[in-house]
Amino acid sequence: MSSHYETLGVAKDATPQEIKSAYRKLARKLHPDVNPSEDAAEQFKLVTRAYEVLSDEKKRANYDATGDENGNGQPGFGGGAGFGGFGDIFEQFFGGGQGQGPMSRTQPGRDALITITIDLEDAVKGTVYPLEMETAVVCKTCHGDGTREGTSPVTCTICHGAGQVQRPVRSFLGQMMTVETCAACRGYGTTIPDPCLECNGEGRVREHVSKSLNVPAGVDAGTRIQLRGQGEAGPGGGPNGNLFVEIDIRRHKVFERSGNDLHAKMTIPMTAAALGCELKLETFDEEQTLNVEPGAQDGDTLTLAGLGVPRLRGGKRGDIIVHLQVETPTKLDAAQRELLEQLAKLRGEELSAGRVEHSGGMFSRLRDKLNQR
Ligand SMILES: [Zn+2]
Ligand SMILES: [Zn+2]
Repeated sequence: MSSHYETLGVAKDATPQEIKSAYRKLARKLHPDVNPSEDAAEQFKLVTRAYEVLSDEKKRANYDATGDENGNGQPGFGGGAGFGGFGDIFEQFFGGGQGQGPMSRTQPGRDALITITIDLEDAVKGTVYPLEMETAVVCKTCHGDGTREGTSPVTCTICHGAGQVQRPVRSFLGQMMTVETCAACRGYGTTIPDPCLECNGEGRVREHVSKSLNVPAGVDAGTRIQLRGQGEAGPGGGPNGNLFVEIDIRRHKVFERSGNDLHAKMTIPMTAAALGCELKLETFDEEQTLNVEPGAQDGDTLTLAGLGVPRLRGGKRGDIIVHLQVETPTKLDAAQRELLEQLAKLRGEELSAGRVEHSGGMFSRLRDKLNQR
């Protein structure tokens, strides 16, 4: 039979850290969840016993001195049934159990997430938003203890305060003990015989809460604002979680946002495009005047620099970009038709004329347009 050191594949003078990492590696390979073969189960058993002895300073010393396979077993560890510490070691590595000792009644509160919808103007200028929400707050009657005034929690009579109970189960290793959360005290190790009437022993109650949220200029749809410690109060007087407020932005009837720029579309008649004109546009910084140069084309853009959305963490604002749409008249009366025909004649434009664009012309026009931005 190989020594415990050989079983784990470590030297006789291996450090506790080396032993631990050797066991972890082997256990991952041989664990029955990963490797269902009989061989692996047998190996796993040996490896775990080796680790159980070598990871305990006293047992390791005994094992080194006497060669006793169980490290000169203390009661409960040695002998055929063995592996008293198996469950613990197992959980230590694979996170099966509830950890050690009773659970605290005091637990941190959960984070909360709410979504608010604001106007585009609020995103440009920033705003104060009134938040209304249902949340958990510390019970004012018991201050989070969960006990009725003058009483206190008592040690659980089932688990005697451990919060856990041991139960024998049959497994591939034969009979072994598993550790389970005590059902009587739900793992707390104590029970509350006289719970606070206000919160039923929870230490917190649900309440409607109003508060003001500062929404900074520059927020976008999907921006999350974190309010530290303003989420739900924890059970048993535990600290509050965080509150996250996610921003949504209402559609604006004129502007469409792209990054920090605002885009708008304005339609002008063909004649105004040809002759040039002045346009008025209501922005978030009062009414602005746009100069359309004579000969403006459909799809031309005009920029109002610095009137877009500010950057969230301060700094330059984006632009307003106006896209021109040139409208061709559709219903001409006789006089208008005649005038246009005269104009065409004056300009030497034949009514059957049409120009074939050179290949790529459409794309280069598009590219020019993009380059103007
Ligand atoms: Zn209470
Ligand atoms: Zn209990």
